[in-house]
Amino acid sequence: MRISYSGLEAYKNCPLKYRFQAIDKIREPKSKEQIFGTIVHSVLRYIHTPAPMQPSLDAALNQFSQSWNGDAYADETEERAAFTQGVKIISDYYAKNNPADFTIVDLESRFALEIGDEENGKHVIAGIIDRIDATPDGFEIIDYKTARKMPSQEKVDNDLQLSIYLRAFLDRYPKETAHLDRITVSLYYLRHGVKLSSTRTREQLEDLDRQFLETIRNIEEGKFDPILSPLCDYCGFQRLCPFWKHKFQEEKAVEDEEAQTSIEEILALRDRMKSDKTRFAALQETLLRYMEGKQIDRVFGSSGIVGKSIRRTWKYDEDKLREVLVPLDKWDEIRKIDGTALRGILPVLPVSARKAVEAAKIPDKESVSLSIKKSRDIEEFDDSVAS
Ligand code: SF4
Repeated sequence: MRISYSGLEAYKNCPLKYRFQAIDKIREPKSKEQIFGTIVHSVLRYIHTPAPMQPSLDAALNQFSQSWNGDAYADETEERAAFTQGVKIISDYYAKNNPADFTIVDLESRFALEIGDEENGKHVIAGIIDRIDATPDGFEIIDYKTARKMPSQEKVDNDLQLSIYLRAFLDRYPKETAHLDRITVSLYYLRHGVKLSSTRTREQLEDLDRQFLETIRNIEEGKFDPILSPLCDYCGFQRLCPFWKHKFQEEKAVEDEEAQTSIEEILALRDRMKSDKTRFAALQETLLRYMEGKQIDRVFGSSGIVGKSIRRTWKYDEDKLREVLVPLDKWDEIRKIDGTALRGILPVLPVSARKAVEAAKIPDKESVSLSIKKSRDIEEFDDSVAS
């Protein structure tokens, strides 16, 4: 299988969004944040492209102005604010990063990295590294971010993207594998003017294979459950998503009167500290029946949303599991059949055995509950977006 890094990231953020993009091939209009990020990236490439005369700040701002695309903004005020933000980002960046101070090895460097082996299957991950510098000690791999929120240092130390970029770099320069401590990987948060840097150990890079292959396995097994998150605010597939599509059904106000009334009443009930539990349960039942009938996971009322979430636990068919693990001498390692012990031995099993273990999994319990949000809670979603 061939997957781009952006596809991998999309799957990790929301498997259903990945399916819409990569499997169903549904085109998603670029968000204003994506367009903004692309323009800023292109100006930074312009700044650092080796040339007899390094571009001045004025030239960089001129480049930004010429590349500007304001089509995605709701109105002039919003567009002006974004443009001003872009000018500030470039000016701050230029002030801190004189192009003459860096030795650029490559800009927007494309890679196609092979991961896996004959037994587990070979897969290719492709992507683009924003910048590779030679430093006095070794090298620095840099990815620019226009996201509003910065991650913790711990997250940077375990960031999958940086590990993949480093592996791609080592694929091109294998001799550098002996000097991992001299290769820095960095995420440059442009809105904040802060660069968060880290290094990787050999063990961390080896673990990348496990993480990557696990994701590929989930994709191949068709696991595409949606994940509700602040990133939904920027998702172009809301009209198709079971969490959001009810919001866009125009006729719902007339046709779904019972559901609308139920939403209003269920919100009021929550505010009264769930005093009338019997009525509350009846309303849940009404709404669940409604969602089931409509094949949606959330219903939208004028003052809020009611969503369905399913909790499912799994157990294993002991006889089938024994058949798989006894010949491999792994049966005694799991005194009790539980998911944690199994997960511990799964990575060392051959692919065919892993598939057989997966096939031995049967649903144990499933329960449905409702999450309730008032409209003002929805507006409180964080507006950060990755790029
Ligand atoms: S709206 Fe959210 S949950 Fe639905 S597909 Fe998009 S990112 Fe996933």
